[in-house]
Amino acid sequence: MALRIRLAVAGGALAVVAGCSMLPVSAPQPSSGADQGTLSPAADARPGDASGEAAALAPGTSPAPQASPTSHRSPQPVATKPLPTAVADPGAKGPAEFVNRVATKDKVAFLTLDDGVVTDPNLITFLTDNKIPVTTFFTTMYGDGHWDYWRQISQLGSVQNHTVYHPTLTKLGEGGAAEEICSANKAITAEIGNTPWMLRPPYGVYGDSTLAAAGDCGLDYVVHWSVTLPDEEFHFQEGDHFLPGDIILSHYRDDLVPHLKIMLAELQRQGFRLARLEDYLPPKP
Ligand SMILES: [Zn+2]
Repeated sequence: MALRIRLAVAGGALAVVAGCSMLPVSAPQPSSGADQGTLSPAADARPGDASGEAAALAPGTSPAPQASPTSHRSPQPVATKPLPTAVADPGAKGPAEFVNRVATKDKVAFLTLDDGVVTDPNLITFLTDNKIPVTTFFTTMYGDGHWDYWRQISQLGSVQNHTVYHPTLTKLGEGGAAEEICSANKAITAEIGNTPWMLRPPYGVYGDSTLAAAGDCGLDYVVHWSVTLPDEEFHFQEGDHFLPGDIILSHYRDDLVPHLKIMLAELQRQGFRLARLEDYLPPKP
């Protein structure tokens, strides 16, 4: 599972951990305080979308034509027609907020685990015995026949949205992305009983269309990470130690427990504790 592939994309070289999230390894680091919304490795690669404004338009719409400077006429009927909207869900909201580290002074970090290919009963025992809170970003295609396992996992934190089929959302446009996100939310709500309010985009790839689509589905946050635990060592996006509010990314896999033991020891050594992401990023009203 630790297979890495190097890709050259806009914004720098990226490493892909097979099965999931894309790790910016050599992309320029954002300056302090400016990381919200600027870490997108690929952003929306849609032509003509450099400003990001296209996300504000419903798919297929063009900006309303501007009146020419010589025109003295009242606005044309086209301006009075209601604009089609990209609303995909009754609970639709504005664009979701991007987060890769929680703004807090508490010496806390948050454990997030992605995908859901592996269901290891020993993991539940380990997490429960050690009172480790975990936020799961679940890919719902792995739910069939295993929902009971994920219901147990949800008791340790919550099960949030990692789409249905794990696509690169920016390739789908806002409508296609909303389909993936809304469908995953419905499945998790039906099977687990909690309605997700956070999305982790597959491979970490997101853009304005992703933020908009997440909002269309009623989600509040698109959650990246600031620390990864791909094997026995941490990869910090900033510096070489934990920072308050760090979000740790790892995946459900066979060899997770020994790596979590290393994580616990290191957090303790640095004076940090794990907290519930749900407490620090609760659903917005
Ligand atoms: Zn993933």
